[in-house]
Amino acid sequence: MKECLKCGNTYLAKVWECPRCGGTPETTYGFHCFAPELNGDGEFFLPESFEALAELEAESFWFRTRRDLIMWAIGNFFSSAGSYMELGCGTGFMLSKVAETFPGLELFGSEVVAAALIFVAGRVPRAELMQIDARSVPFIKHFDIIGAFDVIEHIEEDERVLAQIKKALKPGGGLLLTVPQHPALWSWIDDYSCHLRRYTASGLHDKLLNAGFEILFSTSFVSLLLPAMFLSRLSNPWAKDNDPGAEFRRSQRSNRLLETISLFENRLIRSGISFPLGGSRLVVARRMH
Ligand SMILES: [Zn+2]
Repeated sequence: MKECLKCGNTYLAKVWECPRCGGTPETTYGFHCFAPELNGDGEFFLPESFEALAELEAESFWFRTRRDLIMWAIGNFFSSAGSYMELGCGTGFMLSKVAETFPGLELFGSEVVAAALIFVAGRVPRAELMQIDARSVPFIKHFDIIGAFDVIEHIEEDERVLAQIKKALKPGGGLLLTVPQHPALWSWIDDYSCHLRRYTASGLHDKLLNAGFEILFSTSFVSLLLPAMFLSRLSNPWAKDNDPGAEFRRSQRSNRLLETISLFENRLIRSGISFPLGGSRLVVARRMH
């Protein structure tokens, strides 16, 4: 069901036109735009920057193995799902893989900057894309799965986002969430990435339970590489002139080694191992009622 963000009415219809108040969302670049005040003026749409990020993701072990882990989680926990929404779909790196791996899923993607959606539309033509503020999701009991991958640590009102995700999921619907973990690992990379926090497992679990979720599975990842990550950040934790991209732009050889280690870690997670420590955390949860 759709929710009118203007009057709060809930309605079932193909088109976004509220039968009570007549409200319709704005359209930008051909996408429905539900939070135009956050969209910027579009002047900073630089196709090159999305292409550069997409290239970085495609090559980086971190993005690739996180994506591998999520594909497993979707198939393992929500194999009968019919629809998937990704909040903060970025360049569409994850969404395009979901499209390829699960051709039967109806796909939705959202970003707060509508210009990003132009790039995503090129990669995942069949996805329905929209500009959304994750704190006001205009759906009620609509999706079987919602994914938010390294999104909520950027948002002050993360508990409100979790409540909105719960509202937009069908009862019993699944949430896939990844976040950076362990406050003690805070470094210049978090500052650069505009993170507001790194989570503890118990802190995140409490927020999910309070929002009405049941936790099906929770594990750290980037666990086997945690000592290397810790040392690398500790060695120069506050340097302002550090190049954040360097974490990702490694030599091909070291990237391959790190990917091999991470894929081995994914295999351990698939076999049921839940790591207590790791740079990130994956939580698979379900809307309780
Ligand atoms: Zn309305």
